[in-house]
Amino acid sequence: MGKLVVLRTIAEVRAWRNTIPPDRLVGFVPTMGAIHEGHLSLVRASVERCAVTAASIFVNPTQFGPHEDFARYPRPFEQDVQLLDAAGVDMVFAPLPEEMYLPDASTSVVVERVSEGLCGQYRPGHFRGVATVVLKLFNIVQPHLAFFGQKDAQQCAVLKRMVRDLDVPVQIVVCPTVREPDGLAMSSRNAYLSEDERRRALALRRSLLAARDAWRAGERSAEALRSIGLAVLDAAGGVRVQYWEVVHPETMAPLAAVGDEGALLAVAAYVGETRLIDNELLAGE
Ligand code: AMP
Repeated sequence: MGKLVVLRTIAEVRAWRNTIPPDRLVGFVPTMGAIHEGHLSLVRASVERCAVTAASIFVNPTQFGPHEDFARYPRPFEQDVQLLDAAGVDMVFAPLPEEMYLPDASTSVVVERVSEGLCGQYRPGHFRGVATVVLKLFNIVQPHLAFFGQKDAQQCAVLKRMVRDLDVPVQIVVCPTVREPDGLAMSSRNAYLSEDERRRALALRRSLLAARDAWRAGERSAEALRSIGLAVLDAAGGVRVQYWEVVHPETMAPLAAVGDEGALLAVAAYVGETRLIDNELLAGE
């Protein structure tokens, strides 16, 4: 602990990267900060596998819609750096938006189809912003491995497709969703929830588990699983569902039935003003 460096410019990161011998594995954990156990689990996975671990803290303006929470997104920077340091991060890249985006930037990454359903449908431009910033971060940090959370399953699918299609020499490692003891998926946005909303938010997880149990008992129809999930959310009250879908685990395309390849159950809902997501993977055979 205590050897972590915080770098603000791309030039500084390139210079830092050049000091790492070519035979040492570099792991990378991109974040928007407000660090919690979910982020730290990714750091630990990197520290376990890699000689050097880099992280980034960047609340990326281009992945927020005009009416989303960019301005009020939590930014407890000093605490974040301490937590990342304690977990074993060697370098944190924390650029200003001006460092990442020139005013006349003209290039972006669009991952077709995989990014179009689920969150992509309700957050236009979100995955273009994500894919573009992650490719930029990969080009700046040049990691061998990059660690992402299953919590953001569509993000993982989009980024896997991006590195495959563009021959990006980075291996995407997807790590399990870290949850609060009562099952709520950890998220920086949980801080927005009142006590009452926090309790209602548990219904997202419960809706997924109810559908998973039905699948385990033999139900294969997507519509039937969806009805089971929606009934749980409806009963909770105060939860405004945006989507609850059964999709292919890699392409994110809607499924009519869960087949041999398994499926992803994915939900997004507003609890009060806070938009939350969660998902559950039904393993293939
Ligand atoms: P964010 O700061 O929300 O952009 O998240 C940064 C990374 O942490 C992404 O790869 C997320 O998927 C991951 N992450 C966020 N919450 C969790 C969680 N509860 N469990 C595991 N990974 C998470």
